[in-house]
Amino acid sequence: MRTPTGPGGRPRSVRVKAPGKVNVSLQVGPLRPDGYHSVASVYLAVSLFEEVTATSTPEPGVTVSLGPDSTLDVDSLDIPLDERNLAVKAARLMAEMTENPTGVHLTITKRVPVAGGMGGGSADAAATLLACDALWGSGLSREELAHVAGELGADVPFALLGGAAVGLGLGDQLSPALATSRFDWVLVPAEFGLSTPRVYAELDRLRQAEGVHAAEPTDVEPAILAALRTGDAGGLSHLLVNDLQRAAIGLAPGLRDTLGWADSHGALASMVSGSGPTIALLAQDADAAADLAEDLGHRGVEAFAVHGPVPGARIVSDTVL
Ligand code: ATP
Repeated sequence: MRTPTGPGGRPRSVRVKAPGKVNVSLQVGPLRPDGYHSVASVYLAVSLFEEVTATSTPEPGVTVSLGPDSTLDVDSLDIPLDERNLAVKAARLMAEMTENPTGVHLTITKRVPVAGGMGGGSADAAATLLACDALWGSGLSREELAHVAGELGADVPFALLGGAAVGLGLGDQLSPALATSRFDWVLVPAEFGLSTPRVYAELDRLRQAEGVHAAEPTDVEPAILAALRTGDAGGLSHLLVNDLQRAAIGLAPGLRDTLGWADSHGALASMVSGSGPTIALLAQDADAAADLAEDLGHRGVEAFAVHGPVPGARIVSDTVL
């Protein structure tokens, strides 16, 4: 059996990658008495990956740093490097469930826009769960890991699962969905973040001002699952839903420009991703996505092509240093 360190107590290092997501549909219910909102969502994991390397340390405890390979400018990011970091929370939770955990240092390679509505922090947490599970030999099953993931945040179980899935409840009650071929997207990150709780609060405010009583969402539109199943990007483009979009636009009206531009420049559809402000453009195929990303680049707008579904958290390497 492998131990948390290599021969002679040499440090061992496990590297895991986990994807960001777009919500192909996101229906949001009314504010619940517990302060949360029920959702019905279709998640799609996309080919923009966070990586977490968990390295055993002789000193007990959990430390974290941002890796030099991050494609985001890590110096300007608002990411807590203490116990508020979701990856640190994940490692601590795993340590509590493991018999003899070593100390661990987490190195996070950030690629998913921060506070961008793409679940980057959740991907870090999912990657950390899997890395610490391998490092410490916790012996938890996938179901048990998914349960721990749900304690960390509503989007963490999906980052672990990947692919395409329906999420009910807080988004953490997942059932895998079948997607037989790839869907191509262009992501347009914003130069600012939006706090997810603030976007939900803005939706509540808009609904109250309009006297709208939203229904509890209980399921997703079957046509969306059919479009995913048959690889019908054109069909899917008419079915994208995001109840949070108008709240995100209410807080950041400039998002309208990119959405409007996309609709007149060959995107099949455009939408705010999750709570935003990242915008996701659905393209007909990989070539169309590359063209759209290039056009945006010429306009001085950062954009990159991705595709989904892709697998959830996976071990990339496991080495004794
Ligand atoms: P959500 O899953 O709620 O849609 P998001 O994708 O919009 O989240 P994240 O990038 O996951 O946003 O992070 C939101 C906030 O969480 C950040 O502003 C940051 O303060 C905090 N945070 C904690 N841990 C992390 C982490 N590992 N990476 C990024 N942000 C983190």
